[in-house]
Amino acid sequence: MKITIWGARGSLPSPSPETNEVGGNTSCVQVESDDTMIVLDAGSGIQRLNGNVPSHIKQIDILLTHLHLDHIMGLGFFSVLYNPKMVVNIWGPTGVNFDLESRLTRYLSPPLFPIRLKDLPCQLNLFEVNHSAFNIGDLKISSAYVCHPGPTLGFRIEGPSGILTYIPDHEPSLGSSNFPNVPEWTSGCSLAQNSDILLHDAQYTSDEYKTRIGWGHSTMKDAILFAEMSKTKKLLFFHHDPGRTDNHLNSLLKKEINSHPVDFEIGLASEGDQFIIGEY
Ligand SMILES: [Zn+2]
Ligand SMILES: [Zn+2]
Repeated sequence: MKITIWGARGSLPSPSPETNEVGGNTSCVQVESDDTMIVLDAGSGIQRLNGNVPSHIKQIDILLTHLHLDHIMGLGFFSVLYNPKMVVNIWGPTGVNFDLESRLTRYLSPPLFPIRLKDLPCQLNLFEVNHSAFNIGDLKISSAYVCHPGPTLGFRIEGPSGILTYIPDHEPSLGSSNFPNVPEWTSGCSLAQNSDILLHDAQYTSDEYKTRIGWGHSTMKDAILFAEMSKTKKLLFFHHDPGRTDNHLNSLLKKEINSHPVDFEIGLASEGDQFIIGEY
């Protein structure tokens, strides 16, 4: 399985010019295995994916964790949607009052966007998922709701060679009075068990979090505790606050690692980074 990060910011693209390393685009991750290509979220990073779709790919599956704007703002700018030969499957969370198509059409229709979702030239299919298990090519996908405002999913992707878990927007400590001591009661924990790579929300410092409880995001420290609890092999901080420069993020990462040493790798998800799990 090959994983490429095209956007790892949260909330808003970063306006900072000092983001050469981490990048300024919002959530978008490409996952490839054999002839299968999955795109995790359609944030502004998807524009970087446009030039990186292998020519033999005729079907793309886009897995949306939720419909907050930072996760769908790039959707209408994804070039494959305008190719009539391309099959595009969009998987997203089951809604409470409106189905996935009507919720996506709110954005992909005038006045917010010139083209309606149903008028896109590709062969488009929509699938609603919640606590679900399904296969895409040789990849086995599990989805589950996680703690974040509105219906929001995390995804576990198991390939022949390993496991990637993607939980970009997540506040694991909110729903558990005893976090991180009771894994079975912690949102998202079953998804992340024994991941080779975990991409997890790490937007706030512990100080910032005190005034942002309930906003749906994790502290860097809680991301580490969550990864430890789920026996992750490599944690990549994701959903970086849009206001942080590379230097600031690197110094916060170092501080968190020093204050809570663990026996697994921790890094910053950065645009253009590629990771291989097993053989590819
Ligand atoms: Zn987000
Ligand atoms: Zn969100």
